[in-house]
Amino acid sequence: MKTLSTLLAGVTALSLSTATLANDHDPMALQAKALQDDVAYDIVEGLTTEVGPRQAGTEAEARARNWAVAKLNALGFSNVRSEAYLMPTWIRGKETAAVVSPFPQALAITALGNSGSTGDKGLTAEVVYFPTLADLVAAPDGSLTGKIAFVSHEMKPTQDGSSYGAFGPARFVGPNIAAKKGAAAIIIRSAGTDHHRNPHTGNTNFEAGVTPIPAGALSIPDAENLARMFARGKAVKLKLVLTPQNIGQQQSGNVIAELPGSDPSLGMIVIACHLDSWDLGTGAIDDASGCAITAAAAKQIMAAGQPKRTIRLLWAGAEEVGIWGGKAYGEAHTGDNHALAMESDFGADRIWRVEFNFPDSATSVAKEIEQALQPLAIGRGTQKASGGADVQSIIANNNLAIIDLQQDGTRYFDLHHTPDDTLDKIDPEQLRQNVAAWSTVLAIVANSDADFTMPAKQ
Ligand code: ZN
Ligand code: ZN
Repeated sequence: MKTLSTLLAGVTALSLSTATLANDHDPMALQAKALQDDVAYDIVEGLTTEVGPRQAGTEAEARARNWAVAKLNALGFSNVRSEAYLMPTWIRGKETAAVVSPFPQALAITALGNSGSTGDKGLTAEVVYFPTLADLVAAPDGSLTGKIAFVSHEMKPTQDGSSYGAFGPARFVGPNIAAKKGAAAIIIRSAGTDHHRNPHTGNTNFEAGVTPIPAGALSIPDAENLARMFARGKAVKLKLVLTPQNIGQQQSGNVIAELPGSDPSLGMIVIACHLDSWDLGTGAIDDASGCAITAAAAKQIMAAGQPKRTIRLLWAGAEEVGIWGGKAYGEAHTGDNHALAMESDFGADRIWRVEFNFPDSATSVAKEIEQALQPLAIGRGTQKASGGADVQSIIANNNLAIIDLQQDGTRYFDLHHTPDDTLDKIDPEQLRQNVAAWSTVLAIVANSDADFTMPAKQ
């Protein structure tokens, strides 16, 4: 139990830190205001309706950049611009799968990013069943020659999303492993947690020197159906048609906007999301909501007056297909004076914990944030903050302090990378809780004189 004096000490700490502000950035007042926010929903609604799917390197992603520049200007941000780079681009083709024998029927499938092609005529071959990725790893080299590997690695939902780390590798590295063992193609049970008949796409990667094989994900009901055929002890033959193409180097880009601070000598705070999405849905939870939450929070700060530190918005391009935007940002902006990095890229459900990677000199800031987030039912986590994909490069280059506002991921992988990632899945109340948490944190860190310089890495 906390004593009355520790509770009172917390109240004093909050009021002290805000007493000297030249603006109206009282964190708790901003938190209350942000719980009424409509800007975030407006951004998700607008981006999913007026642009829709926006796969990296395509004209749809270019339209999203134009949309983002117009929106961020309309919201009143400064220095709004698009920063272009080139990246290798893969696009989807035809995609069908059908059991030829013993029980002929079509299966719901989608190609994984970087999949090879079967050609228009498709590929008909015997299927070899691996209940887990470890079973595929254990298969003798050459044992899959001319065959289709089927990995049915079952993922369960977790609040912290950790099951993606445990079961995602069937998608991330399964195809490369199958290709090295001589497989003609691979199909996996989607890395997802729903039971809708929607396959989950996502990138896979082949090592240099390994020729990409056709690689697809079955919807979870279809993967279970196929597994039941094996349980009957029959040989299974499948016809697979996947005709994606590599269309070479295409233009992608980051969109950047700023809320300039009054003291440029204090390092800026970069807040990131990614603007690109997979092509199957309209990218509402992944990651229009992240752009919406971070921009709406920065807008709350703007409306209350100028902060001391600059807040920079990074709407990164091409995250899904290899974090090209984050890498381009890291290369272009290493010379800029950054203090802190944050990212929102885990949907739109409520934030349930906060984590830090701070130097000792900022310990009191972490305590202040921890207390200020308590009314939103956000507790302090036990992990060290690591930041999102799009800020990894700038964090590594500039050795930045990090705050993670962790969202509840229980239903995230029901929708992730599927046709079901659409606006109707956004809960406006939970979205507002996100904006309130981000507004609270930004009000504190953007007005703090604390030294966020991280100790030099060993
Ligand atoms: Zn994402
Ligand atoms: Zn994604």
